[in-house]
Amino acid sequence: MLVLSVTVLAQSPRVALTFDDGPLPGVTEALLGILKQANVKATFFVVGRSSVLRPDLVLQIARDGHELGNHSYSHLRLDGLTDRQVALELSATSELIARITGQKMKCFRPPGGRLSPVCEREMKMQDLCLVRWTLNAGDSEMDLVDLSRHHLLSLIDKIRPNAIVLLHNGSEQTLTDLAAFIQALKEKGFVFVTVSELSHD
Ligand SMILES: [Zn+2]
Repeated sequence: MLVLSVTVLAQSPRVALTFDDGPLPGVTEALLGILKQANVKATFFVVGRSSVLRPDLVLQIARDGHELGNHSYSHLRLDGLTDRQVALELSATSELIARITGQKMKCFRPPGGRLSPVCEREMKMQDLCLVRWTLNAGDSEMDLVDLSRHHLLSLIDKIRPNAIVLLHNGSEQTLTDLAAFIQALKEKGFVFVTVSELSHD
């Protein structure tokens, strides 16, 4: 029976939920509560300058079993910075998260998903893998201008096996819809994994 359930689990389609731009007081706690309730592990791409203000939230993300990813220190467009600044944007965030949680950062997502040759070189030197997304939930401040077009629940049929879904800390709509979104995906047979788990087989 155990063998059967392991086999079923191994064959289940997988999806990785990713939450960018945190930690954000008042929102990150709510996200963590919803994820805990649903017994779902996700990945949080945190910003260094926000993490330094609320290390307790970063620690809570780690303690709840989620993966932490590096989303730069200042959330600036990296292609407009000097080589030295890019290196620091990555290393300062990794070092900060390691200090708070004891964990080594494995993944990096550049702000806006924009890469530059300098950024690629630094990622390699700092042993960080690139994680973009396969589906943008469209819940960033900018996208929310047109909510009807980017309703989280309307994305359910667009989620394919091994999808990486881009979500944000900050949207009321995401908090409202997240539990139903997760439940609908579970009913379709999806299992939830972190981005590292997704890339490791
Ligand atoms: Zn971002």
